[in-house]
Amino acid sequence: MLNYKNLEKQDPEVMEIIRAEEMRQKEELEFIASENYVSKAVLEAMGTVLTNKYSEGYPGHRYYGGNQIIDDVENTAIKRAKEIFGAEHVNVQPLSGSPANAAVYFAFLKPGDKVMGLKLDHGGHLSHGHPVNFSGMLYDFVQYEVDEKTGKIDMEKVREMALRERPKMIVAGYSAYSREIEWKKFKEIADEVSAYTFADIAHTAGLIAAGQMENPVPFFDVISTTTHKTLRGPRGAMIMCKEKFAKQVDRAVFPGMQGGPHDHITAAKAVAFGEALQDNFKEHAKQVIENAKIMAAEFIEKGYSVVSGGTDNHLLVVDMTSKGISGKDAERILEEVGISVSRSTIPNDPNPPMNPSGVRFGTPAATSRGIGVKEIKNIVNLIDLAILNREDKAELNGIKKEIRQMCAKFPVPSL
Ligand SMILES: *Cc1c(COP(=O)(O)O)cnc(C)c1O
Repeated sequence: MLNYKNLEKQDPEVMEIIRAEEMRQKEELEFIASENYVSKAVLEAMGTVLTNKYSEGYPGHRYYGGNQIIDDVENTAIKRAKEIFGAEHVNVQPLSGSPANAAVYFAFLKPGDKVMGLKLDHGGHLSHGHPVNFSGMLYDFVQYEVDEKTGKIDMEKVREMALRERPKMIVAGYSAYSREIEWKKFKEIADEVSAYTFADIAHTAGLIAAGQMENPVPFFDVISTTTHKTLRGPRGAMIMCKEKFAKQVDRAVFPGMQGGPHDHITAAKAVAFGEALQDNFKEHAKQVIENAKIMAAEFIEKGYSVVSGGTDNHLLVVDMTSKGISGKDAERILEEVGISVSRSTIPNDPNPPMNPSGVRFGTPAATSRGIGVKEIKNIVNLIDLAILNREDKAELNGIKKEIRQMCAKFPVPSL
């Protein structure tokens, strides 16, 4: 357990809540694809006096005094991000993924401009044009889909839509899509219709950083990513782009979208980027993908249907229909035995988003705990047992105990 001696003394009420969450994280298995565990070093960087500083502007051009040291922090984060992704320009100030995407649209588009993005229930993100999101309200999104039979994106259909719709921007990179993305094809299609290329690598950035998936940064116009998913940094985001777009992107972030950056988080981003540059991060990312592949194969062997038939990355979407259970109920049963997952729509889901047919599993967090292929096989076994015996309290309790024992053997990195 971490030492919070001042917090403990001054505010036992909040301390107790934090301790309870520590216990939950220790005793439960995390298979939510967007979550991860940061290192102690990243956690420590977040809890520093850098939070006291205001630094609106950019290194060398601030609207507040006393920013020489903060400039060092921001420049260090930028330098490391450039090294990881081969980016020409990096802005590390976006507060999170959705605001980063808002800044990207703001930098390249006018309200009402046409944009192509993947539909939410096909694996896209809310900020890629969903009607309830600012993106869908401000811009004229047309939404492409995955192919019904293969569960994969059909680039010929993407091309047809682009030629028909003539969008100003094409968005690729998703939240619940388990296959390699054909970045180069996207770029070719965008060039054909003179559209900007925007890659949102929020989910796969860590796998790309580790060289385990293809990197769109060298040839896309603009790229956003969260820093807290596979990249295993603090909650936040960044934008990368070609040098020729640097000014408009920076201006869109500040003063366009945001006020002062969160400098303590910028420091933690720099620390996480430092970790991603190390050799063992490559090994970690390889294991994340191997674990996901094994997980998909094991589910298929047990009679579950996996969208697209497997995975190339860290996540898989499992259709629960064949087991007679909804995604929401599966999420609840697994929560009961100590496994966190998120319900998920499947492409063309006959059920509504609040009670969809699928469950999305992701392996980054479990892999950060040191969990490997042998345990993954055991975990899928336990998941299947829990689903099949969902009415049997004694059986569920037994499974919960086994999960706890496994958790004790694989400690959370920061706890
Ligand atoms: C998670 C995610 C985001 C949003 O990140 P937040 O930090 O939750 O705002 C944006 N795009 C994609 C593809 C994502 O998966």
